[in-house]
Amino acid sequence: MRRLLVAMAATALILGATGVAAQAAPAPGGPGLGDTYFPDYGNSGYDVGHYDIRLRYTPSTDKLTGTTTILATATQDLSRFNLDFVLDVASIYVNNRPATFAREGDHELVVTPARTIAAGGAMTVVVQYSGVPSTKVAAGFTAWTRTADGALAIGEPEIAWWWFPSNDHPLDKATFDVSVSVPTGVEAISNGSMPRPPVQETLGYTRWSWRSLKPQATYLTFLTVGQYDITQDTTADGQTVYNAYSQLLSPEWRDGAQASVERTAEITDWESTLFGPWPFEARGGVVLPPGSISFALETQTRPNFGASFFRRGANTSVVVHENAHQWFGDSVSVADWQHIWLNEGFASYAEWLWSEKNDEGTAQEIFDYLYATYPDDASIWTTAPADPGTAELFGDAVYDRGAMTLHQLRVAVGDDAFFEILRTWTAEQRYGNGTTAEFTALAEKISGQDLDALFQAWLYTPAKPVLASLAKKATPAMPKSWAQISRTHALLHEH
Ligand SMILES: [Zn+2]
Repeated sequence: MRRLLVAMAATALILGATGVAAQAAPAPGGPGLGDTYFPDYGNSGYDVGHYDIRLRYTPSTDKLTGTTTILATATQDLSRFNLDFVLDVASIYVNNRPATFAREGDHELVVTPARTIAAGGAMTVVVQYSGVPSTKVAAGFTAWTRTADGALAIGEPEIAWWWFPSNDHPLDKATFDVSVSVPTGVEAISNGSMPRPPVQETLGYTRWSWRSLKPQATYLTFLTVGQYDITQDTTADGQTVYNAYSQLLSPEWRDGAQASVERTAEITDWESTLFGPWPFEARGGVVLPPGSISFALETQTRPNFGASFFRRGANTSVVVHENAHQWFGDSVSVADWQHIWLNEGFASYAEWLWSEKNDEGTAQEIFDYLYATYPDDASIWTTAPADPGTAELFGDAVYDRGAMTLHQLRVAVGDDAFFEILRTWTAEQRYGNGTTAEFTALAEKISGQDLDALFQAWLYTPAKPVLASLAKKATPAMPKSWAQISRTHALLHEH
């Protein structure tokens, strides 16, 4: 959101100086935001401030109907604009008048309003729609997951297309109201807090309402529907914690899940001592039915976890990882998907810090172990974390080499400067977006060091970095925490 507004202000200045603003003919918004890997994700020409998503969903038929109201601001004189969406649209109103619309490609919805919208003008866009999301294929698949007792709208980077029309790129964050009516007895869970308790509607349906008060990326907005047990608690500083556990979990998996996710407040309080204040208004976690989604996702305020993370009992590594993303990924989001290591490298390094805190292996021991044991031809070395490509978007270079990069930075600048860099990053970029170049510039500024060689070797070069100080030693012992961290990462890579 911030980036688009800055761009708009710059345009206004240029137009003002040349005096051509009044003569510019309204033009169509673009079908993408120029992302390096996903050029047609998101749309240009407007900036969304709020989504109001009001749905009805029936698990037995997978039928979704509803209305999404989008409050946006035009960033140019706009004759038409795109939304990203795949369900069947019945009508669209823009500023209270019916708009015409057409499909383009596999996820673009081209909307032509009755009246053009002036740059800086408000847009109220009301889209009425329905569909069976699991039958809609885009980008070669459906990201909507049906489960034995419900459905999951959880995915990265594609998911919003299957349940609400949007400007689907992390550059355009917004606040959200998500309200879903489901058969009474079924739970519907989303981000943030509940502005009102579930309300029974007519005909055996109950409406659940959720609200996110802080800017949120579209892919971090989720919907989990099914049979869940919900626990509620309050953190030391008064935030509500909602956790949810699928009733399809076996008692053993349920125990492991609870022994991990019920520690969310403790873990996030610890993380806030390292990364700065918790950025959001609520916390929690959702544990999904076995056999549905196998990965976990850092959905804002409340991560969703595949059941198999807990098949061997408690797994606090994955809770640490997904909640570290709340700072690195959710509050500070990628400006371009190319910079994904800013999410995954940092969340992975949080697991190393957790291991260090719990005397299960220091970050240095984990680094030494990985450096010694990844084969020379492994993708972690042949992929540059700063430009992994879509094939390695969730690969070892992004996760483990990303974390190794941060460890090398920590060794180079020392603990005080390292954690000051992390906290300054989360403070300065809060609720916005970041790039690799911005992060490395900040690290140099705070440390006062020239770190070009370090970042060049670790982030930009598709080869195993040479360590100047590497002593010849036998293969280091496997740190105690590594079995859990590596199992966790194996599942996370299944995005
Ligand atoms: Zn992650």
